[in-house]
Amino acid sequence: MKRIIGIIVALVVVVAVAFGLMHRNDQSDGRAADGRLNVVSSFSIINQISEEIGGKYVNAHTITAIGADQHDYDPTPTDVKRTQDAAIVFANGLNLEKGGSGWFDKLMKTTDKHAGKEIFNVTDGIKTIKLTTAGVAGQDNPHAWNGVLEGKTYAANIAKVLEKKDPAHKAYYAKRATAYEAKLQKLYDKWHAKFAALPADDKKLVTQEGAMAYFARDFGLKPYFIWEIDTESNGTPSQIRTLVEALQGEKVRATFIEQGESDKPMQTVISQIHSHIAGELWTDSVSKQSGVVPTYYDLLNHNAQTIYDGLTSK
Ligand SMILES: [Zn+2]
Repeated sequence: MKRIIGIIVALVVVVAVAFGLMHRNDQSDGRAADGRLNVVSSFSIINQISEEIGGKYVNAHTITAIGADQHDYDPTPTDVKRTQDAAIVFANGLNLEKGGSGWFDKLMKTTDKHAGKEIFNVTDGIKTIKLTTAGVAGQDNPHAWNGVLEGKTYAANIAKVLEKKDPAHKAYYAKRATAYEAKLQKLYDKWHAKFAALPADDKKLVTQEGAMAYFARDFGLKPYFIWEIDTESNGTPSQIRTLVEALQGEKVRATFIEQGESDKPMQTVISQIHSHIAGELWTDSVSKQSGVVPTYYDLLNHNAQTIYDGLTSK
């Protein structure tokens, strides 16, 4: 009798496990049909870094399309499906995805994703820079990815999560992360030496949005902006007046605009100070594959080059 009960119990367990597996397969197990780990990121820059580290074992997608505003986004049905199927959701944190309608939290709720389980912030461990503008003062400036040293932390955090979620390929992710971080460090060393050699008076980094605070910290530049973070009121007369007053009587060798933003506010600024617009920075998105900055590395290098050329222009 004991033996029969034992067999029945064993059968029940086998059936239950089989049923469980079927059910899991039904719902997606966080993997693509070819076995790659499904990973989504809140915007294109994080997604690109996850591709660099994840390589051939990761099926990576950005939720916010290239060029779309990740401060305030409206997910499509495809975004919802991809997020649902994802084993990992990478987010920036630091209030980046909290803007506007709170699109990110809504999407996580709809797709039943949870912090620490599927959702991971890639900025963990970064020493944040606080916003100073009334209304948002004291909150973290989210644009940490525009700093090169900070980018290394993004890569390390992404690798840590991939290694944990896909231990079979742990060595592969670790190796790629080490190589990628070394590549970013080399980029940092190169530009750090160049910026350090500039006269103190030329180290002003004037942009429209205050998206370059971390870059400025990395390279010893002083950041100026018209508005500090994208909101409903970008480039108001009072914001323009405040910047013009701060720069009055100063030597301003160059100013910069951001890709995807109208240059009108900066045109108004330079009409009141002696300067010019030296170029366009990619601050919130990588470009399409055929564009100027298809990778995060390209973006960092392009911004450094554009700023350096501007600050050394006659
Ligand atoms: Zn921004």
